[in-house]
Order: sequence, then C-alpha cells, then structure tokens
Amino acid sequence: MQRKREIYSIRQMGASVHDMKNYFEGNVNYLLSFLPIWLTKQEKVEVKRRAEICVKCKHYSDKQCNKCSCKFPAALYAFDKQCPIGKW
Ligand code: SF4
Repeated sequence: MQRKREIYSIRQMGASVHDMKNYFEGNVNYLLSFLPIWLTKQEKVEVKRRAEICVKCKHYSDKQCNKCSCKFPAALYAFDKQCPIGKW
C-alpha cells in the first residue's frame, strides 16, 4: 500500500517516464546489489563516488535530493541518472 502511494506521489510531482525508469532501475539495482555478482566493479565504484558527493551536498537531506526529489540509496544505483546540478 505504501509503495502504491509512493509511486502516486512521484506522478504528482510531474516526474517524466525517464525519471520513473531511473527510480525503478535504481531500486532494483540497490536490492540486487546484495548479490555479489549483480554489479560490476566499475558500478560499485560509481555508487561509492556518488554517495561521497551527495552526503556533502547542501541539497541532500533526509535520504533525498531536494533538487530532483530522488530518494537514496536508489538514486545512486540508477546509472542513467545524472545529478541535476552536474556534480556526477
Ligand atoms: S544528486 Fe546532485 S544535487 Fe542531488 S544531493 Fe546529490 S550531488 Fe546534490
């Protein structure tokens, strides 16, 4: 039920299909990242790099980016996503 509400709220924010794809991809990659073979070494390095940048960013609060409204950690695992202010 809460999941349905979350998806509905994404639509209310005017999210594009691309944003929703990133949201879905990021959550799936995050969940499957617990499998040792799911992410490549390069993707793991990218997730760590993004996390280090985001936690120091003034737009990051309460596990969310206040610029693009993406939730963490899913945003870190959506590899097509770009930081809205070009930090990664
Ligand atoms: S995605 Fe970009 S703007 Fe958002 S918290 Fe991370 S570094 Fe900051």
